[in-house]
Amino acid sequence: MLRIDQHVHSSLSHDGISNMREHMVHARNYGISEFTFTEHYDDYTGVNTDIKELDINRYREEYLKNKDDSFVKTNFGIEIGLRPESYNKISTLVKENKFDFIIGSSHITCGKDMSRDETFFEGLTPHDAVLRYLNEVLENVKIYKDEFDVYGHIDYVIRYVIGNYGKAMTKIDYNEFREILDEILLSIIKKDKGIEINTSGVRYGLGTPHPNIGILKRYHELGGKIITIGSDAHKATQLINDFNIAYSMLEEAGFNEIAVYHGRKPDFVKVKGTRH
Ligand SMILES: [Zn+2]
Ligand SMILES: [Zn+2]
Repeated sequence: MLRIDQHVHSSLSHDGISNMREHMVHARNYGISEFTFTEHYDDYTGVNTDIKELDINRYREEYLKNKDDSFVKTNFGIEIGLRPESYNKISTLVKENKFDFIIGSSHITCGKDMSRDETFFEGLTPHDAVLRYLNEVLENVKIYKDEFDVYGHIDYVIRYVIGNYGKAMTKIDYNEFREILDEILLSIIKKDKGIEINTSGVRYGLGTPHPNIGILKRYHELGGKIITIGSDAHKATQLINDFNIAYSMLEEAGFNEIAVYHGRKPDFVKVKGTRH
């Protein structure tokens, strides 16, 4: 199995626990050949929160101080919370910094942080809440071009739909949201961007990584080629967690390679025959 993790948060992210060195030591001990730090950058303008914005200069300094490729190879990435209204701020940030890899995610959606602010769901059925989220993903995918390489945990909203509505909806069913999901996936493909398999879905009790297999299969059917795999680790022991599930899903959906990003360019690595 390829042991390359492209979604990792250190303690520089507001919700990260292990520091960079702890991740590196764990990676080395567990035969992880390479991983990418993707600290959180979210624009909190207008959002009621006490979370501080990532200090990119401090992040780069810490990264360069810890980097030691002869010990374990690491890359300098970022997970940017995309918001339509943050375009200028985010495009400047991307132009001013040389990242290896950028995950674009929707965390704050329609100006609300749904992980902490349940008013995002107020007055909405589960179906409408999912649409509210997917509409903004679509808007981001149309607006942003060079500011992301893959879209992160593309069915993220399901975590909080389950939290708010219980068993009323337990997954984002491709058939129920076919029209908008196709539009999102086709826009991503047309822009030569990709999606990730984010195994933290298992950790969050969804019973599957993000996205679920139905969405992954459709991405492949539509001609999607670029897939990265990440654990979304917030502590070192979570590195490459549940990657065996991700590789089974890849195979089931018809993919035989993953993309590994360096300097914002994908290198395609075959996964067939490397699972055992
Ligand atoms: Zn995220
Ligand atoms: Zn993350």
